[in-house]
Amino acid sequence: MHQMTLAEIARGLADKKFSSEELTKVLLARITQLDPQLNSFISLTEELALEQAKAADARRANGESGALLGAPIAHKDLFCTQGIRTSCGSKMLDNFKAPYDATVVSKLAAAGTVTLGKTNMDEFAMGSANESSWYGAVKNPWNLEHVPGGSSGGSAAAVAARLLPAATATDTGGSIRQPAAFTNLTGLKPTYGRVSRWGMIAYASSLDQGGPLARTAEDCAILLQGMAGFDPNDSTSIDEPVPDYAAGLNGSLQGLRIGVPKEYFGAGLDPRIADLIQNSIKELQKLGAVIKEISLPNMQHAIPAYYVIAPAEASSNLSRFDGVRFGHRCEDPKNLEDLYKRSRGEGFGAEVQRRIMVGAYALSAGYYDAYYLKAQKIRRLVKNDFMAAFNEVDIILGPTTPNPAWKLGAKNSDPVAAYLEDVYTITANLAGLPGLSMPAGFVDGLPVGVQLLAPYFQEGRLLNVAHQYQLNTDWHTRTPTGF
Ligand code: GLN
Repeated sequence: MHQMTLAEIARGLADKKFSSEELTKVLLARITQLDPQLNSFISLTEELALEQAKAADARRANGESGALLGAPIAHKDLFCTQGIRTSCGSKMLDNFKAPYDATVVSKLAAAGTVTLGKTNMDEFAMGSANESSWYGAVKNPWNLEHVPGGSSGGSAAAVAARLLPAATATDTGGSIRQPAAFTNLTGLKPTYGRVSRWGMIAYASSLDQGGPLARTAEDCAILLQGMAGFDPNDSTSIDEPVPDYAAGLNGSLQGLRIGVPKEYFGAGLDPRIADLIQNSIKELQKLGAVIKEISLPNMQHAIPAYYVIAPAEASSNLSRFDGVRFGHRCEDPKNLEDLYKRSRGEGFGAEVQRRIMVGAYALSAGYYDAYYLKAQKIRRLVKNDFMAAFNEVDIILGPTTPNPAWKLGAKNSDPVAAYLEDVYTITANLAGLPGLSMPAGFVDGLPVGVQLLAPYFQEGRLLNVAHQYQLNTDWHTRTPTGF
């Protein structure tokens, strides 16, 4: 039962082959049995899950239908869930029970999803390895000595290990696509503004975007359908109609113009990954796509710009965690300053503190022009590169990551080494574009992802291309041994 995709579950429920309650029980038992190896969950919500599953079964019995009605999922632990701990992977919020549901959570609940739990993540979504979580590192089910990617590593490891069919995640600089690549999943970061950020705890507000992590493009289409849409509670939400993503999966790729940036294949890319990307290009050519070399000349400046902008926004967003209103508070504060200092010093981990300091520095008088303003100018250049490229091509293709998943601990002493791994993903966040990662093969038994980028609001095009690719390849069907 645990091998089913969301699409298969929807068919099985509609055909009354099993109930949502039965499936939920199987998956909860599987999580209890297998998750100790992975650490992919921070909280399990068994009671809520069984309640929601029974309610979904009752709705089906009353004649209701829907692809998500009775579908078991989990939420990354930065989506607020009413009455349930929403920790953001941090000691700071270990005791925080959200007073309301995030829009993503309430929309999916209304569609009938069953919440099995809240997944582990890098603290405040800062990281690429899921090692900065206060709840401990998450392991990659493909090799338990390797990282699953981050920051949505819990969602990725759980779905890859078949603990559940799909999960929500967020992507500020790659946190959906990179863990998807590292664990052989399909993950989609939508256009900035496509999915509401209301109730999604902020890391860097101008970059953060929620999206689906699943095994197939078809399942990403199903989950995105339940997440996307205008939300008056989010001032950056965009009032654009949401297309029927599942209906668009079968479009022909004949004549699709794929741009391959020459900058993507420079030094730093594992040559074995480069080969797998070439194979995926050939596969898409067989389906009728036309390949064109393009250039994204400002890509080289994206990492430094991102690692100024994201920490700057984080330093501002995280100022609300002061030990006064919610979250961790130190014992016996001597005075207000002592309360702030010790609460924040104890509540935040090293990576979060590093970023707050970098961000506060970049925003301070005298340095603002030199760092923050400069980074914003680069951000515009990166966007202009994409706009020029999309005049010539329909999608852009390349690797999702320069290397496969590294060993746990391998980059802990050198944060910049980890930052460099984000080279292919962060440009989409700087520009606000949608991006998808899908399985493209293996290197030393570890999964490799190919990334597709599209113009604004062309999530449907990404899902269509990925679905057609998956109808003709079987990388996405491979299961990690032991799961
Ligand atoms: N690795 C990037 C960072 O640490 C991206 C994280 C994310 O997308 N949340 O900022």
